[in-house]
Order: sequence, then structure tokens, then C-alpha cells
Amino acid sequence: HSAAEKPPITLLIAAPRGFCAGVDRAIEIVERALERYGAPVYVRHEIVHNKYVVDGLRQKGAIFVEELDEVPDNAPVVFSAHGVPKAVPEEADRRGLDYLDATCPLVSKVHRQAERQLEADRHIVFVGHKGHPEVIGTMGQVPEGTMTLVETVEDVEALDFAEDDALAFLTQTTLSVDDTAEIVDALRTKFPHIVGPKAEDICYATSNRQAAVKQIAPGSDLVLVIGAGNSSNSLRLVEVSEKCGTNAKLIRRAADIDPTWLEGVGTLGLTAGASAPEELVREVVDKIAEWREVEEHTLVTTEEKMVFKLPRQLTQ
Ligand code: SF4
Repeated sequence: HSAAEKPPITLLIAAPRGFCAGVDRAIEIVERALERYGAPVYVRHEIVHNKYVVDGLRQKGAIFVEELDEVPDNAPVVFSAHGVPKAVPEEADRRGLDYLDATCPLVSKVHRQAERQLEADRHIVFVGHKGHPEVIGTMGQVPEGTMTLVETVEDVEALDFAEDDALAFLTQTTLSVDDTAEIVDALRTKFPHIVGPKAEDICYATSNRQAAVKQIAPGSDLVLVIGAGNSSNSLRLVEVSEKCGTNAKLIRRAADIDPTWLEGVGTLGLTAGASAPEELVREVVDKIAEWREVEEHTLVTTEEKMVFKLPRQLTQ
């Protein structure tokens, strides 16, 4: 094809998209640890849920493991951005391991809230997705039996606490803003005395990315979300687009795009989850440009200026 033969396509790119401050910080922690301690540096769980990022760090000397018992004595280990149950740093201390905690400060904030509610003798209802590492980490802040997970309004309806039991709720940081509002409403209706954060604990990056996709989806024929299948905030972006009535596909990177998807698509929406780097957005744009004459528009809904400090061990 010569350029003249390519049919035009409008790309509507959402902003904000991609990396958030917690992901930036987590990656920088691994990179700085590699500089400071030399390779190998162990990382417990994928530092962020993105294969491209993980592969890049692996090439620089990071070794990814799922559990602490895979880390040899005397090797430095980083905990992922999603946070870990209390038992993990305790075990690391017991073994005298040098560890760096890359838990996002916004997740740590929820951990501290959990401790506070426990001290206040409240049973905690946690809104989150079963099995996600952040949920495992947050539930692991308090003794078993003191926190109950709910995923849906139906789960709330099935809770059998008394109306005047001392209850508090907390939420995962990467949930759907709209679905969570319904779950929190159900909780407050059923248990009027329940204590909780003013809105919920969904982080700024998750809400901003969902708000941004709401701006591009209605005018798009299809939305591509760059992200991983185990990335909660990326999956939510697909759902938000579909709730706007626009079909959305989750792709890891450009190679995942099936060119037949673009048949009849005049406007293509594009966004990326909080763990997906901008390189992958450019890669997708370049791929589309191989097939179509691209006209690119970025729709900015908010500017983000959040930056988180690195752990003290790395700044001293
Ligand atoms: Fe932190 Fe939110 Fe990013 Fe998760 S998505 S790392 S909670 S800023």
C-alpha cells in the first residue's frame, strides 16, 4: 500500500492513561535497587501487572518470584506495588532479608485504615476482587475472621451482621467507580452505622482513567485498552467503555491487534491501564498507521501531578 491508498482513521487517545505515580515509583525502586545492590535483585510477584515492564527489569537483573521462600538469604527483595500481607515483611525480618517495599502509598493508606478499624473493634467489610494480590495484601493486614470480602451488591445482601454491629468498610484501589458506588450505597442502606471513607478508597489514577475513557468511548466505534488480563484497573477500563455502548478489546501490545477488528471503524479510541507504559501506546499507534492514514487526537480530561517519594533506604 502507498500512503494514498490507506483509508483514514481517527484515533481518539484518552488522557490521563498509562502509568500512575504508584507504578512509576515501584519500577524506580527496582531500578535503583539494581544500581545500589547490583544484580540479582529479587522481586516478590510482578512488580506491576505488565509483561513488558517485567521483562525489561528481568533483562536488567531482576528475578521475579511468587513467594519469599524462593529468595535466597542475603539477597535484596522488593515487594510489588499491590502490597503484601503482614506476614511477608515479618518473615523477611525473621530471615534478616534486606527488603524494599514498593507497595503504592495509596494501598498502604488502606492498610493503615484496616489497622485503625481493627483497633476500634469494628468488623471490616472489604470491597474488592477475590484473589487479586492487593486484596490478599489488605486482608492480610488483620487477623483472619476480622475482615469479610464482598464483590457485588448481592454479596452485601447476603451479609448477616446485625444492623447495630460495629462495622467499617474499605475498598480496593482499582475498582469500577460506578459499581463501587452501588455497593457502598447498599452497605450504607443495610448498615446505616457503618463507618467508611467519604467516598471510597479507589485511587485518583483509577478514577481519572475511567473518567477519561468515558470521554472517548461514546464517539469511538471501538476502544483498545492496553493492559494485562490480571490488571484490575485495565479490566475496568474495558467494562467502562462497554457500559458506554462501545465495544472494547484488551490488548497486551500492538501484536495482539487483529486487523479485521478495524473493518468499518472510522474512529478508534485508545487508552492504557495504570501499569502499561507509553511505549506500548506509541507501538499501537505505529501499527495502526501501517494499515490506515492516522489522524491523532488526544482528549485530556485531567492533568495529573502526583509523585510519590521513594523509600528512605534508596534516598540516603
Ligand atoms: Fe497506586 Fe492507584 Fe497506581 Fe495502584 S493504580 S499503584 S493504587 S496510584
